[in-house]
Amino acid sequence: MAGIIRRLDETVVNRIAAGEVIQRPANAIKEMIENCLDARATNIQVTVKEGGLKLIQIQDNGTGIRKEDLEIVCERFTTSKLNKFEDLAAISTYGFRGEALASISHVAHVTITTKTSEGKCAYRANYCDGKLKVPPKPCAGNQGTQISHGETVADVRTLANASTVDNIRAIFGNAVSRELIEVDTEEERLAFRLKGYISNANYSMKKCIFLLFINHRLVESNALKKVIETIYAAYLPKNSHPFLYLSLEIAPSNVDVNVHPTKHEVHFLHEDSIIEIVQKRIEERLLGSNASRTYFTQTLLPGPAISSGETLKQAGTTTTSADKVYAHQMVRTDFRMQKLDAFLQTSNQVHQKSPEFDASESSCAAPLNSDNQSMYEELNDSEVLAPANKDLDDFLQDGEAGESTKLLSETTPPRKRPRTESDVDLKTDLTAASVPRRRIIKLTSVKELRSAISEHAHIGLQEMLQNHSFVGCVNPQWALIQHQTKLYLVNTSKLSQELFFQILIYDFGNFGVLKLSTPAPLYELAMLALESAESGWTEEDGPKEGLAEYIVAFLKKKSEMLQDYFSMEIDEEGNLTGIPLLLDNFIPALEGLPLFILRLATEVNWDDEKECFESFSRECSMFYSIRKQFILEDTSFTQTEAFGMSEKPWRWTVEHVVFKAFRSFLAPPKKFAEDGSILQIANLPDLYKVFERC
Ligand code: ADP
Ligand code: MG
Repeated sequence: MAGIIRRLDETVVNRIAAGEVIQRPANAIKEMIENCLDARATNIQVTVKEGGLKLIQIQDNGTGIRKEDLEIVCERFTTSKLNKFEDLAAISTYGFRGEALASISHVAHVTITTKTSEGKCAYRANYCDGKLKVPPKPCAGNQGTQISHGETVADVRTLANASTVDNIRAIFGNAVSRELIEVDTEEERLAFRLKGYISNANYSMKKCIFLLFINHRLVESNALKKVIETIYAAYLPKNSHPFLYLSLEIAPSNVDVNVHPTKHEVHFLHEDSIIEIVQKRIEERLLGSNASRTYFTQTLLPGPAISSGETLKQAGTTTTSADKVYAHQMVRTDFRMQKLDAFLQTSNQVHQKSPEFDASESSCAAPLNSDNQSMYEELNDSEVLAPANKDLDDFLQDGEAGESTKLLSETTPPRKRPRTESDVDLKTDLTAASVPRRRIIKLTSVKELRSAISEHAHIGLQEMLQNHSFVGCVNPQWALIQHQTKLYLVNTSKLSQELFFQILIYDFGNFGVLKLSTPAPLYELAMLALESAESGWTEEDGPKEGLAEYIVAFLKKKSEMLQDYFSMEIDEEGNLTGIPLLLDNFIPALEGLPLFILRLATEVNWDDEKECFESFSRECSMFYSIRKQFILEDTSFTQTEAFGMSEKPWRWTVEHVVFKAFRSFLAPPKKFAEDGSILQIANLPDLYKVFERC
């Protein structure tokens, strides 16, 4: 039986049509915000309750609606934005169909409160199914329009002078807003312009957020979305996605916005070319941002927990199965194969594999605490040779000094030493008679300082330093090392200062001497220091000359003790003639000498024995440490070496002298795991994950 055809009731027609425009509450909000913007509002407050089911309220400070228009504003196809069809080609407002309010009023109870600039007061009106229920009532109100269906309280608030990024922050949060890269490009030929913000390679989220605006209208473009997902797949881990806000401005005549009632999809001319350009630009920006990628370094280091009560003696003796690293996990399995320098330097550098290097590597391989080391071990040739042909030149002066006098270092003690006092006493009898003897230091203060060093040692770090592979110097202050599958950034300055401090405490009373070929007058050194800004000298301190004289007299009084304990030599005339030899092949940068002398007088506590040794060692170790201000990076030679005493570039010294000593002599304090002195910057298995994506 054939059905009877009837004309649908107008309300039913409108409700069905309304479903096309207002599919869900979000559509209503979007439509109303667009109306606010069309009304040139600069402040819009959006209130939503229970996802818009209970209440949606949008308030703006725009032009308002004239009282006369309130009668028809919610009827279908009533608009103030379009007159004739041709206007559509040059439309600059979001709205033009006159359908939104009508549709909303068919699915919800609508109240409009509005005031224009000419109106004496505001008016409020209620609507149902597109019709005004009762004539508008005058009421109090500011200029602008409030449209609502229910109750109230603002949820999203954007400020009039807020930037795009501010608004992204307000809505999507700080985490994404601080990881954004700006993108922009323009192409006159295709009459389009792109501006936007995209998340960098550091940031990812579970779901892609892609906000695309074409001529300031929020739209969707599946073609563009696909392209974007492909680009980011190369940067982000699997199943993680980017955030993008892109605003395309295309000549209105090239855009067809009337594709779909929600206006969600638009078509535009030269779509493929424009998408290709957008794609290229995003790729460029991401690549650029990746070059300066921020690594969130990890200060907490491997090995036993910092607070673990293990003693130093246990360090390096056991390796748990968890620590085990198999060859297949490593890329560079032999650290002599290739270093960072190979990639960075083109010139004829000295530090390639040399016999000397091999010898030194093997001699320092012994673990720090092996029990068979004695304080009285025979001097090993390879260990004592080097300082013998060192002399400190005419201090801080150039000229012929280099050839004039060659002074040799005096007694050079064995470099290996035990870490506990008990060891010392036990091994006394093993001494070979022919070998220079090492003095046994029985001072309680020194013993205490030594045990403080071992107590504070971080065993995991120590194990790492003992077994590290040197990767390369980043600059005089920072170097990269590898341990197992991890890459670390190490503060050479800080670690070297600690190294020299520990040497000063452990080798106390047993140093060789680096003789100055020309004695350096302490007075002049003190004056040089006082004239430098670092001294912090002010007029209140009195005349510099007087201070310098006082320093000379003071240090002369201490000279006997300084020579005896620290091999620091001062002659009768108040000249510095020698400084301690702390590490073979190592001469401190003499530019630091004046301030060292000054600080000996001002920073060292000479009254208390233990504090005196400790503060002297702190000052002295600062003078000996690798400091960037005394190394000219591009010369590649340290200042002292420029005096003609050695051919070694600073990089060589850092790698083969300083880091070599870290392996054998340094008991890194726990603070290094926390203060950023040693930072883990990459772990090989994690890197594989990144490379897999490429
Ligand atoms: P359209 O935006 O397509 O014109 P709407 O149904 O969204 O259709 O709105 C109908 C008319 O109501 C608009 O043309 C505009 O004149 C008026 N209007 C709606 N919202 C506002 C507002 N917030 N401020 C001023 N006028 C408004
Ligand atoms: Mg509208």
